[in-house]
Amino acid sequence: MKRNSIITKITIWYTVFILVIAVILVTIVEFSWADNAADAAQTDLIDEVTDASEHIVWVSDGFFLLDDEIELYDDNVYISIYDRNKKLIEGRFPAGVYGGSVFEDENISKVCTEDGEEWFIYDRMFMIDRNPVWVRGIIENPAESGSFAFIFRMVIICIPLLVIAAAVGGYIITKRAFAPVREVTEAARGIQKSGDLSRRIDRSGNNDEIDRLADAFNGMFDSLETTFNNQKQFISDVSHELRTPLAVMISQSEYGMEDAEYSGRALQAINRSAKSMSSLVSRLLTLSRSDSGRLNPEREDIDLSELCELTAEQQNVIAKEKGVSIVTDIQEGVHITGDYAMVIRILVNLIDNAVKYGKNPDGTGNVKLSLATSGCFARVDVADDGPGISEEHIDKIWDRFYQAGRSSNDSAGLGLSIVKSLTEVHGGKCDVKSKPGSGSVFSVWFPKN
Ligand code: ADP
Repeated sequence: MKRNSIITKITIWYTVFILVIAVILVTIVEFSWADNAADAAQTDLIDEVTDASEHIVWVSDGFFLLDDEIELYDDNVYISIYDRNKKLIEGRFPAGVYGGSVFEDENISKVCTEDGEEWFIYDRMFMIDRNPVWVRGIIENPAESGSFAFIFRMVIICIPLLVIAAAVGGYIITKRAFAPVREVTEAARGIQKSGDLSRRIDRSGNNDEIDRLADAFNGMFDSLETTFNNQKQFISDVSHELRTPLAVMISQSEYGMEDAEYSGRALQAINRSAKSMSSLVSRLLTLSRSDSGRLNPEREDIDLSELCELTAEQQNVIAKEKGVSIVTDIQEGVHITGDYAMVIRILVNLIDNAVKYGKNPDGTGNVKLSLATSGCFARVDVADDGPGISEEHIDKIWDRFYQAGRSSNDSAGLGLSIVKSLTEVHGGKCDVKSKPGSGSVFSVWFPKN
């Protein structure tokens, strides 16, 4: 038995419980049942003596006759009849118990035999046609009888055996009942040892507590596996993204060192790569802060109408150079509470994507930035009339490092996940509606003031 196992604890608990119940029962039998049995015997004794008196007939001159119906032994009671001089007329006696010659009217006395038996003796004087006659009844005290003592002794002997049997039987039953828990534990340990998070614990199919425990473990393994895979993917994506600028920096620095004339251009290339790395690292930092709840946006009043107008104007200058024009449809006076820099970043990211990916094959494009209130929210839509996003990509474009089909060179697939994190930290949400060939509409909702 393992000291700290639940099985041992349960076994000890109910063994003690059974022992206590047994002791209580024996005590009750000893004190209550024994008393009741003695009382009942005394009542029988009195009844039988009274009964016997009804079958005594006085004849004459100190003569008594007993009728045929008298029972000198009935209901475990021995009856004997005596005349006024306490001379026995007729009677039956248990072996070794006579009762002596002292008669006390309506008194129950006790005598003990050598075998340790206890007997009650009851004497009563009746007047039969004004002639006194004594009737004596004798009955064994059942609480002190040999059979009772034997049963009692047996019970006392059986209790320890019963407790031992209950402890052993209970231990075996509990162990069997806990076998599925052991299997679940072993399975979980196996998964931990092998490090194979794709393994799952088998369910028995009984839908019982053990199955629910297995489900809970499997659910935990699901999330661990997802987190672990995401981490793996993340590390591989980050390494992949950093590899290109690093390779550029290494090769350019080598060229620069070999060729003094080329060093100026090499430094420029290194600078560009360093900037790209720095931008990537700063985006990763934003996401990491968002994951750990350390993004802490400012809570200032923002005139979102004004901010949208301003951002659209600034982005339009850049977009125009790329052949894309930005138009606006902005509701006046819409205010939200949030972080100015973060909201700008959301708008710029979406407009930038619309300009980048929303262009038509001829290199032109139209982007529309709209702002309107919708219930308790301020809704910003960034729509383009570009190629749109196919169904296979649309659910994944919010994932980190996900790039659907045509992606720009300076992108790393982090823009939309940053938009999502920044929006959510403002208590808002994002959505996209797109049909291949019909453009896309990215929407962001902020709780309005
Ligand atoms: P990236 O750094 O590649 O721009 P994003 O997270 O901003 O990363 O975008 C993820 C992917 O979603 C992009 O690679 C692009 O394929 C797709 N995408 C984003 N915006 C649009 C858009 N307006 N139209 C079509 N595709 C888009």
